[in-house]
Amino acid sequence: MKLVWFRNDLRLRDNPALRHACAEPGELAALFVISKAQWRQHQMADIRRDFMLAQLDLLGKALAALGIRLHLLEVATFAEIPEALARLGQELGVTRLYANQAVEIDELRRDSAVSERLAQEGIGCHWYNGCCVLPPGRVLTGSGDMFKVFTPFSRAWLKALDEDGFVIHRAPQPRGEPCAWPSLVASGLAKPWDNPHWPVGEEEAERRLHLFLEQGVLDYPESRDFPAIPGTSCLSPYLALGIISPRQCLAALQQHLGYRPQSKAQPGYVWLSELIWREFYRHLLVRVPSLAMNLPFKPETAALPWSWDPVAFAAWCEGRTGFPIVDAAMRCLNGTGWMHNRLRMIVASFLTKDLHIHWRLGEDYFMSRLIDGDLAANNGGWQWAAGTGADAAPYFRVFNPTTQGQRFDPQGEFIRTWVKELADVPDQYLHQPQDWLRVKGRHDYPAPMVDHAKARLVAIDMFRTLEKP
Ligand SMILES: Cc1cc2nc3c(=O)[nH]c(=O)nc-3n(C[C@H](O)[C@H](O)[C@H](O)COP(=O)(O)OP(=O)(O)OC[C@H]3O[C@@H](n4cnc5c(N)ncnc54)[C@H](O)[C@@H]3O)c2cc1C
Repeated sequence: MKLVWFRNDLRLRDNPALRHACAEPGELAALFVISKAQWRQHQMADIRRDFMLAQLDLLGKALAALGIRLHLLEVATFAEIPEALARLGQELGVTRLYANQAVEIDELRRDSAVSERLAQEGIGCHWYNGCCVLPPGRVLTGSGDMFKVFTPFSRAWLKALDEDGFVIHRAPQPRGEPCAWPSLVASGLAKPWDNPHWPVGEEEAERRLHLFLEQGVLDYPESRDFPAIPGTSCLSPYLALGIISPRQCLAALQQHLGYRPQSKAQPGYVWLSELIWREFYRHLLVRVPSLAMNLPFKPETAALPWSWDPVAFAAWCEGRTGFPIVDAAMRCLNGTGWMHNRLRMIVASFLTKDLHIHWRLGEDYFMSRLIDGDLAANNGGWQWAAGTGADAAPYFRVFNPTTQGQRFDPQGEFIRTWVKELADVPDQYLHQPQDWLRVKGRHDYPAPMVDHAKARLVAIDMFRTLEKP
């Protein structure tokens, strides 16, 4: 018996582990491990967990229709998995296990413990690259190191892709009589999922991808920074759970354009470069596992005197900072589990450079709320904003939350959606509404919690002090 272990690759199409297992003769079963205590330790958001379990339910049903039974193992933490898998292996008579590689440190440790334990049972483990276009470790500098800067990484990545090429694996053919699938909802393992913003399913992910390519990709460089318009693909929850693969995205992009963009001058390149950022952070995480252990990429920045002020942090979390774009963004995150990229940059900059609060608090909070929470991208984004990461924003470039709002939400459409108390403030006052509100005798929106000009200087000073011997 061969066993395919699904993790962050909840799809039938372009799933290398599943494809390789299907290519071998003999019986095949599938596995998913539910480890709720571990997910909690990893700050997995409830919305992400429920989205994942709903997708798993669909996947179990689709596998059952192909004659592949999905087994579920329930454990508390990753530490229990090697033993639980050894037992299941004995029970089912498993000889080979197939899975797509993870990039996070706890997951990598889990997988090597599984390999070791199953080897004792005579079960061979076979690992594949299913989460990146190019496998981590493939794109290195001439001296064999990981690139520390994005642009040379992206050039080398495109070159390696030209050399290696890539294939998209088809979904497997039926392997026998369909088997029964007792739904996860019926068995009490999952909640019914009826979130209209994020329907589950591979078809849904592909529909979004194609819609974006037809309607959005060419305008993406101009529209991607405006949260009030649907200028981006909104594929991140699907990519984070592997409901669609980055290779499927790349293949569809190439097919749509008729070429693979190689430089900024070519339409489609800006979106491709976001997919390459995703790869950059994943490759980096494998090469620098300390990133997953709360450590900054730039070791010297560990000495920065970050604040841990719980009162200021709570105001940021709850969208009560007195800066409309920041508050709208945080309330949107709390309300929907998703936030636009421009807003992620603005609120991360505000937390770290205006409130001087440790990026780790922001990183954890995002993880605990995001439907697309992904350690590599989230850590990369936070360390970028805080100025502690690989190819991070230069420390002296501090976002001004008021002008960011004026630039990227000029009519305040996004702000008015999420900060209801500002709905009737005229456009010209919206980004600094306090004077207008005072004249109207209104006290329903807070004063700015910091003076941005002063806070910016403090942030710059924190970093300058580091440079002094
Ligand atoms: C502080 C901070 C935290 C972030 N946390 C996460 C996270 O937990 N999970 C996550 O998927 N993304 C994260 N991002 C990256 C980015 O904000 C989201 O991927 C993006 O907003 C998703 O929207 P989209 O699918 O419409 O993206 P599009 O603009 O359509 O981009 C396509 C895909 O490329 C990838 N991508 C885009 N931008 C980035 C980026 N800067 N870094 C890495 N991958 C990228 C995503 O998979 C995205 O779905 C974070 C960014 C910041 C600044």
